[in-house]
Parts: sequence; C-alpha cells; structure tokens
Amino acid sequence: MSLRSTFSCFLFAALTLTLASQAQAAPHPGQIALTFDDLPGIMLSDDSNYIAHFNRQLVDGLKRHRVPATGFIVAGKLEDLDERRMRRALSLWVHAGFTLGNHTYSHESPSRIPVDDYNADILKGQTLLCSLTRCPPKTPLWFRHPYLETGSTLADVNKVNQFLADHRYRVAPITLVSQDWVFSETYDDALARHDTAEANHIRQSYLTYTTTMVKWYRASAQSVFGRDIPLVALLHASRLNADTIGDLVAIYRRAGLRTVPLAKAMRDPAYKTPETYANPKGLDWIGRWSLQLGRPLAPGYVDPPEDIAAIYRKIDSD
Ligand SMILES: [Zn+2]
Repeated sequence: MSLRSTFSCFLFAALTLTLASQAQAAPHPGQIALTFDDLPGIMLSDDSNYIAHFNRQLVDGLKRHRVPATGFIVAGKLEDLDERRMRRALSLWVHAGFTLGNHTYSHESPSRIPVDDYNADILKGQTLLCSLTRCPPKTPLWFRHPYLETGSTLADVNKVNQFLADHRYRVAPITLVSQDWVFSETYDDALARHDTAEANHIRQSYLTYTTTMVKWYRASAQSVFGRDIPLVALLHASRLNADTIGDLVAIYRRAGLRTVPLAKAMRDPAYKTPETYANPKGLDWIGRWSLQLGRPLAPGYVDPPEDIAAIYRKIDSD
C-alpha cells in the first residue's frame, strides 16, 4: 500500500534535526481538514471491544480539541465484528456532528475488479451509511477511493466518476499522507506484546514523520500552485490516532494550520483543478495535479523510518 518507495535514512535524520527550529519559525496561516478512513477501524485482529474503545477515545479527543472530522466507512468490516456494537461506535461520529462517507463495502479497487462490480460495491456500502446518517435528499454524499486507486484506464476512471456523479457523490481528495497505517499496525503489535518502550518509540516516530510530511506536502503545494492550499489529511480510525490526536492537533497548530471541515477546505479553487490520472497505482491529489500541470513536487520526500517499515512488512505478510 506504500505510495512511494524511495527511502533515505540520511535525509530523514537531517529533517528530524531541523524540526525544532521550524516549529519556532513564524507559521503561515493555513487550513487542514482531517479525514479518517476504514471506519469502524483498522487493527491487527478483529476485536470489537478494542475498536469500540478507540472510536470513543478518538471521537472524544476530536470533540475536546474542537476539530471537525469526516469518517469513511467500510461497511463490509462489520461482517467480521459485533455488528450492533460497531453500529453504536459509528453512531458516536454522527452524534458528535461529524460527517460520514462511503469507502466502498469491501475496500475494493477499480484496478483489481471490473468497474461494474466496483460500482455495485459502492452502492452496497451506501446502505449502512444511509441507515446511520439518513442521507438527506439533495445533500451530496462523500466518497473516498480505497488505496487512492481511481482506475487503470481513463475509460474506467470516467465510468466510476459518472457513476459517483449519478449517485450524488462527491470525491474527497487527499493532499496529506503520513502513512499512518504503517505506524498503526506496528503500534497495535507492540501494545499486544506489552512492549511499552517500543509503543512509545513508534508513537514518537509517527509524530516526527507527520511533522515532516506536513512540511513536505505544503512545500509541494507551493511548488505546484505557487501558494499554500488547505490540506486534506488522510488518517485512519485506529488506536494510534486515538492515543495521539492531541499531539497531532498540536503539530498542525504549530505549523499555523487551522482545522476546518472537509467541505470548507475544498472550497479552495485548487480543488477544482482537473486531473486525468489513470494508473493501477494509487496517488494523492498533489501528485495528480503535479503531473497534470507539469510542475514538480517538492524535493526531499522521505518514507517512514525503516525500522518501523520493516516490522510493518513482516506483520502484513503474516
Ligand atoms: Zn481504506
């Protein structure tokens, strides 16, 4: 699921060392919208108790920090969990006033299954969404593509987009990725082994990496658009994000970013930039607009630290 493969220990270390001075620099005013994928949540094993607990913790944390949020449901996840309990966990988001959207029923991709099947999977995922939010008539529904994969050919991309438009969906792009899933699963693993030192190390690495990525995506927006744009952050509903939400909000605020609803962030004209990316591999929207407009991304992209990435690859292949 990694979006990029380049890795440089040296560059990562160099960036880490400069973070303290960056945090003290006068921040630019900016905006960030938080989105959480794979609701009711990602974790190593299907433990409804664990998921219910971190949903409450995450929603309470977002409310406490007055952060608006959008969550994207994978309805098929409920098949392997305590359905009534998970419905209650998802209702917490609705009662908190947060927005919910559709992330397909089976977490599928139009690059891996026929487009007609993919579209049917979107519709299947809508049933749970609308039973929770009632999907008021004429109100747009939010959609997020799993893996950021939108189709291998332009014909496929267009067919999915037409289907989404016909069913009043609005696509939620992503302009900040911190690969939180890499850290989340290794964090769950450390907690399951009661390895507090390792869990703390992963949490700290995640926060440092997030700070680095906020800086890189903003620099890339500057390179592509010549200015700051509101960021739309891809996160997941996870124990890690529930445990660190206060720290994440502090990172955004130190960077001069105000948290705003997804719809507000997308009012920026940058989000109307057309893109015709067609490729089996997923790509964030800054990357798509960079290709479309022929303007480079910022230099210095780094992957998550290799010690954590190596554990993630091992866990993921088990
Ligand atoms: Zn997902």
